[in-house]
Amino acid sequence: MTIHLHQSDLPDGLTLGPVVAIDTETMGLDPRRDRLCVVQLSDGNGDAHLVQIARGQTRAPNLERLLTDPATLKLFHFGRFDIAALKQAFGVTTAPVWCTKIASRLIRTFTDRHGLKYLLADLVGVDVSKQQQTSDWGAAQLTEAQKEYAASDVLYLHALKAELEARLIREDRLELAQRLFAFLPTRAELDLLGWNDANDIFLH
Ligand code: MN
Repeated sequence: MTIHLHQSDLPDGLTLGPVVAIDTETMGLDPRRDRLCVVQLSDGNGDAHLVQIARGQTRAPNLERLLTDPATLKLFHFGRFDIAALKQAFGVTTAPVWCTKIASRLIRTFTDRHGLKYLLADLVGVDVSKQQQTSDWGAAQLTEAQKEYAASDVLYLHALKAELEARLIREDRLELAQRLFAFLPTRAELDLLGWNDANDIFLH
C-alpha cells in the first residue's frame, strides 16, 4: 500500500479507473462554514492519493474533471457530505455517485449501525482506526497518522461496495438504490442552500 501526497490537485495524466473511491476531510461538519482540507482517492487496488487543498483555493482542474466525468463512478461513504464539501469548494456537481451508507441503510435494516468502521469490520473484515477523525486537517504538514487514517477511509470502499451490491441484488433493492444515488447530488445541493435536516423539504 502506497500513499501518494499531492498539493492542490491530482497530477496530470493520472488515471484511476472506472470506479474511484473518494473521501474528504474538512475543518468541521458544516460545509458552508468549514473549508475543505484534504481529498482522498483510490482506484481500489491498494494505493491512495491524498490531495491537500489550500485555504482559499477555488479550482483544481484535474480533480474537477474526474468529479464531473460521466464515465467515472465516484464511490463514497456518506457521499451527501463530501459532495456538498466539493461543490462548496470548487462549484462542481459530483456525478455519477454510489454511496455505501445509503446501500447499507437499504439492506441492513436489522441494525442502526451504518458507520464505516463498523461496516468494514462486519462486511470486509478489516479493522480501521478512527482516532484521527477529529484532528486538525488544516495543518500544512499532515502527520503520518493523519495520512494513514485519511487513506484508510478510501482503500476498502471498493470491497465494501461489492458486498453491499450483492445484498442489494439479493433483496431486489439495487434499482431503488441507484435512483437514490442519482438524487444524492441534489440532496447535497439542498444542504448547501439551507434545506438541511432541521428544515427537511419533504416534511409536511
Ligand atoms: Mn474520512
